[in-house]
Amino acid sequence: MEIHNATYLVSSAKVSQCPQPDKPEYAFIGRSNVGKSSLINMLTNNAKLAKVSKTPGKTTLINHFLINGERNADTPWYLVDLPGYGFAKRSQAQRAAWQKMLADYFQQRINLQTVFVLIDSRLSPQKIDLEFLAQLGEWGIPFNIVFTKADKNTQSETARNAKAFVNRMKEEWEYIPRTFITSTVKFTGRKDMLGYIEELNADFDPNAIAG
Ligand code: GDP
Repeated sequence: MEIHNATYLVSSAKVSQCPQPDKPEYAFIGRSNVGKSSLINMLTNNAKLAKVSKTPGKTTLINHFLINGERNADTPWYLVDLPGYGFAKRSQAQRAAWQKMLADYFQQRINLQTVFVLIDSRLSPQKIDLEFLAQLGEWGIPFNIVFTKADKNTQSETARNAKAFVNRMKEEWEYIPRTFITSTVKFTGRKDMLGYIEELNADFDPNAIAG
């Protein structure tokens, strides 16, 4: 799939404020600093796109972008930049609000095809990431894992960390969803991720949602 255009649409505090769920949607989430903005910019070929979500007031909101909305050749789809987890500075109340907003978003957003959960490929398996996946599992939300910043390790270190993470997942999960390895410096993983999104787009049936 080619990205012909990518535009910022809206930032929502509630799922009811999100755009009509008439297009396939892909959400991106991870710990702060995991490389989410860089990945979104790489995927969309737009060096500034995800900067919008980092502007004051939008870091705690659900940020929608429309991809390929102005061209008929490819299916238009929504890219969603979700607020990250693991901010030490957030208060208990802020964390509870984040949890509620995401619980509603994940459980009510009927056009959501998958959640790309970003994991820093330099780290050994982290409790906070595994806990988040367990939460997605409880909600029954499909997800895929994206190991980021692969250029910061040797290939074998990246492979070892990715394997260690998947092995930890296998303790809890029977089925391990597809994983991706990315580097925004080397443009690694872009084609694979866009190809995967294209496959899921092809299966999207707007009539099923309308009905
Ligand atoms: P976010 O907080 O998750 O949106 O993370 P950012 O995209 O802002 O990235 C955090 C830091 O990691 C920045 O300094 C990026 O330049 C750097 N970064 C992100 N992705 C990569 C990558 O693939 N390779 C390298 N070397 N650095 C990266």
